[in-house]
Amino acid sequence: MIAAGEVVERPASALKELLENAVDAGATAVTAEIKRGGISMIRVTDNGAGMDAADAARAFMRHATSKLRTAEDLQSVLTMGFRGEALAAIAGVSRVELLTRKRGAAAGTSLTLEAGAVTAHSEAGCPEGTTIIVRDLFFNTPARQKFLKKDNTEAAAAQEAAVRTALSRPELSVRFIRDGSQTLHTPGDGDLKNCLYSVFGRDFTGALLPLGETHEQIRVSGFIGSPQISRGSRTMQYFLVAKRPVRSRILTAALEEAFGGALMTGRFPVCCLHIGIAPEVIDVNVHPAKSEIKFSDERAVFDAVYRACKDALRRGGVAPAVQIRPYTPAGGRVPVYGALSPSVYTQTAVANQQSPAPTASAPAADSPHAAPQPPATPVSPLPPAADSAQRAAETIPPQIREPAASSQEETANPTAQDNPAGWRLIGEAMSGYLLVETPDALWIIDKHAAHERLLYNRLKAGERPFFSQQLIAPKIIALTQPELDALTGESAFIEETGFELDTMGPGTLAVRAAPGEIDESELPALLSELASLLRDKRRPELREEALCLVACKAAVKLGRSSNREDMEHLAGLVMETPDLRHCPHGRPVALRLTRGELYKQFGR
Ligand code: ADP
Ligand code: MG
Repeated sequence: MIAAGEVVERPASALKELLENAVDAGATAVTAEIKRGGISMIRVTDNGAGMDAADAARAFMRHATSKLRTAEDLQSVLTMGFRGEALAAIAGVSRVELLTRKRGAAAGTSLTLEAGAVTAHSEAGCPEGTTIIVRDLFFNTPARQKFLKKDNTEAAAAQEAAVRTALSRPELSVRFIRDGSQTLHTPGDGDLKNCLYSVFGRDFTGALLPLGETHEQIRVSGFIGSPQISRGSRTMQYFLVAKRPVRSRILTAALEEAFGGALMTGRFPVCCLHIGIAPEVIDVNVHPAKSEIKFSDERAVFDAVYRACKDALRRGGVAPAVQIRPYTPAGGRVPVYGALSPSVYTQTAVANQQSPAPTASAPAADSPHAAPQPPATPVSPLPPAADSAQRAAETIPPQIREPAASSQEETANPTAQDNPAGWRLIGEAMSGYLLVETPDALWIIDKHAAHERLLYNRLKAGERPFFSQQLIAPKIIALTQPELDALTGESAFIEETGFELDTMGPGTLAVRAAPGEIDESELPALLSELASLLRDKRRPELREEALCLVACKAAVKLGRSSNREDMEHLAGLVMETPDLRHCPHGRPVALRLTRGELYKQFGR
């Protein structure tokens, strides 16, 4: 009747099962300790109900559970476990030692197993509750052992299992010790906020918005993170349904929908949401590790979560930001990005006049009535240089394709006449766009995007385009343990990009130096995002993205500067390096409006 499946695939999954057993035994405190990512040892000690001598031996038999009495019990499971598989599966692939004393019993039991077979069984003196020690996981299944990741990765996954248990049970005090140092200790006072505080630290907890009281059938409670602590992935979305940590498409969708336009594309909300729901309307028996569940009424669950989150955001004063549309290249080609329309020209013309008084024919730049009309001819951005060298050759005048004969540094104030590259910087428009003229076209260059691309190219080439800036005082940042592990596991990347980081203890990082001109206040968000990109070593494209991100954050100085020399320098680089004309995210860096297109716009 039960969807049996493989429950032990790595140390973290064994730990999860052992923690669940402690919960089911009614423990109020549990301590988990691992060595070498849990591969050499996992020890879990609880102060729960314990077992008598007979049950202790039975507990390791397949399908032996004390949690179901009839088949009907399966319809409304309240315990974490119910399949009676975990201990059998764990013991089958390791060396196990069990010490347990039933509450109120005079003596305890000690039991030793190797590869599932009992090797010793005796009476023992021990405290009430249960201790299980699992050593040499997968010692008899070398194939399985091969799939284990580095100790650090396994340890991070195990820590995450402890975090999930802690968040699902604020009334349980959870301690996690990793190779001798304690990295987690929750108070177990029943207050979810205190629990979150001990897991994620002050900065994080301070930015949480509480969910209000609900009196509906589906009770949603807990916290969502305000946009400033959003993440670059969904790893910090914790959903607990009937106190069970689960992943669910429905819940994620409801949360993210509630945030609507309040987050930029590529940012994900964080949350710790408890969903109280009758056990009869969920099915926890659809996944071997019970980490996914099915709701009988998905719509009702979606609505309840959506409304609760939306309400919390409103009370927290989080308004949807201006909707930032995701960048979607149509058919692989770079689309027109913000095509210029006739009214845009009019606005520009007015803005440049000494007296910007609106006239009937030319509305003021900030007039709400100056809505752009559909353009007669859109300005076409350059095709991506890498995409088609052929097409680039057609659109770029030969004098631009050739690199400048003399470097820009030598000519601080070049004019159209004496510039050997055949381009002239007209100036800057709308604080951020360079206007450049060539014999047959007008170019508009996005300063920030250009600088970002420039830094990215150099980073990729293994250069260090910016210096590492030593901070006056180290900036202390709270990160989660998996985030810390991801960063410390990528020391080469961290060093190359100009960071200097020191771990200070559980969840705490000291930043001693940062690349370029990155603002200190941006460091927490940036490092957590880098961590989520660097986490998965098997995906090199995420590394690329991490480079992009550092380039983007560091690309402020030139992008902000309106110093003529800096602008000339940047314009020169873009005009002379076709490869620079798209930012690393694929957006155009430069738009080109030809003389022919101008003529057409003016009806010539
Ligand atoms: P399940 O949790 O699905 O019942 P397990 O294999 O995890 O299956 O555990 C088998 C049985 O061993 C449980 O039903 C419970 O009776 C007993 N048991 C396991 N761990 C503990 C513990 N920490 N304290 C008390 N009893 C336990
Ligand atoms: Mg169990």
